[in-house]
Amino acid sequence: MQSSDVLVVGKGNAALCAALAAREAGAQVTMLEAASREEAGGNSAFAGGVMRFAFGTVDELKRVTDLSDEEIATSDFGTNTEDEYFDDLFRLTSFRTDPALSELLVTRSQDTMAWLRSQGVRFVPNFGRQAAMVDGKRRFFGRLPIEVSGGGAGLVAFLDRAAEKAGIEVSYDTRAVSLVYDGERVSGVRAKRDGKMVEFTARAVVLACGGFEANPEWRARYLGPGWELAKVRGTRFNVGDGLRMALDIGAQPCGNWSGCHATGWDRYAPEFGDKSIGDQFQKHSYIFGLLINANGKRFVDEGLDFHSFTYARYGGEVLRQPGQFAWQVFDAKAKPLLRPEYRMKKMTKVTADTLEELAPKLEGVDAKAFLATVRAFNEAVMTEVRFDHTVKDGRGTRGIEPPKSNWAQRLDTPPFEAYATTCGVTFTFGGVRIDPASGQVVDVIGAPIAGLYAAGEMVGGLFYFNYPSGTGLVSGAVFGRLAGTGAAAAVIGNE
Ligand SMILES: Cc1cc2nc3c(=O)[nH]c(=O)nc-3n(C[C@H](O)[C@H](O)[C@H](O)COP(=O)(O)OP(=O)(O)OC[C@H]3O[C@@H](n4cnc5c(N)ncnc54)[C@H](O)[C@@H]3O)c2cc1C
Repeated sequence: MQSSDVLVVGKGNAALCAALAAREAGAQVTMLEAASREEAGGNSAFAGGVMRFAFGTVDELKRVTDLSDEEIATSDFGTNTEDEYFDDLFRLTSFRTDPALSELLVTRSQDTMAWLRSQGVRFVPNFGRQAAMVDGKRRFFGRLPIEVSGGGAGLVAFLDRAAEKAGIEVSYDTRAVSLVYDGERVSGVRAKRDGKMVEFTARAVVLACGGFEANPEWRARYLGPGWELAKVRGTRFNVGDGLRMALDIGAQPCGNWSGCHATGWDRYAPEFGDKSIGDQFQKHSYIFGLLINANGKRFVDEGLDFHSFTYARYGGEVLRQPGQFAWQVFDAKAKPLLRPEYRMKKMTKVTADTLEELAPKLEGVDAKAFLATVRAFNEAVMTEVRFDHTVKDGRGTRGIEPPKSNWAQRLDTPPFEAYATTCGVTFTFGGVRIDPASGQVVDVIGAPIAGLYAAGEMVGGLFYFNYPSGTGLVSGAVFGRLAGTGAAAAVIGNE
């Protein structure tokens, strides 16, 4: 039997932030991680690394990252004020996001980024993916000017270093299986290590071991029929263990249990994420082309908004198409606008000099119907409106269903290229209810469960139906820090 003040289950971003915060507050901390040292890090280690936090001025950005005078003079970073952040969260979640949780997320986001920096995390401007040159200045769009150096893998590596320095012990290859609970308080975890059951006792437990995205049976059960067919964009270890353990002792389920974050993802990507590829199987530039299903038809408004505000929902739309796939089709005009992931080697791509040559290459698609769709689309483009990819330009279509609201360009300039995508599930939205004051898990009638805290993907109530990109890592850090501080305060306060 091993014992500690605070036991943290998982070792992704939320868990590491919880562990560091608990340690900072004076608690002795142990972490349990189901994966080996090489595979550890969860979805956090697969993340692209963009971080959405509230800022209104360049000085506020400078709390988080170094910016040279030259970078400041030649960039328009825009803003993501607290009001803008709230508006995006409320709009995308159809006003369902929990007011207390979203308040914490938004108002603590900047301070938490500065705290991460103080832990040794290095942030850099996101020049590669969320900015374009406009009138001699780099203009940022999507309200996401900052990313972690080295992406999600970099974030985990920075936090790992901090945890090691802080003397936090990690037990790898140790899968938590159940909570030690006497009906009054949680006092540890039973885990499986090297084929044997081991008990870890603790005065408080923080569960930060992800959602159920990697469990096909739970996906079909909660997200609905067909979801077992989605690819998993990240770790294979998030199978719902933490949620099951908490629900088993009466924790209150909370949030959008039939909802998840899912994006377009290479049709022939492996079943789970591949760390050597990271997030590069994604295809987020569909806003500049057409999405075509097996019937040769369009099925969403590709240009409804910047991809940051539609991509997490459109994976589900692809899953609902016959055969669970869609081709993204572009012409030569769009090519310079495609994100870096369109230049990697491992992907399912076809090219042709004419649309008639391209059509039969779109595996599984009704070629005749595809050509008719493109003809109708080309006719419908509002060519009188100026195309501008750095703003929502209002260059849409007229008279077709579904419409394309922005960035509509005729598909008429060879060579043409098309990318086959399916649905890649990122993480699930359903979780447990926490007390926003402490990160403590509450039971089905709202009473706090002594000794139990939760963070990261396990916290329910923040995201419904959709999600603004870059929020997962920031919410993991905000709620990880909250749970770690809450757990340590309870433990140290009771000495
Ligand atoms: C491809 C991809 C790209 C993304 N890009 C971004 C981005 O750019 N910006 C952004 O904000 N978000 C992004 N996200 C989302 C973000 O990564 C997640 O929301 C966030 O990392 C979740 O953090 P977490 O700590 O809750 O979970 P995780 O990082 O998944 O950590 C959970 C940990 O728990 C462990 N675990 C699971 N079960 C057990 C058990 N029974 N016992 C012990 N350990 C267990 C897992 O091994 C893992 O280490 C991306 C996700 C993916 C998959």
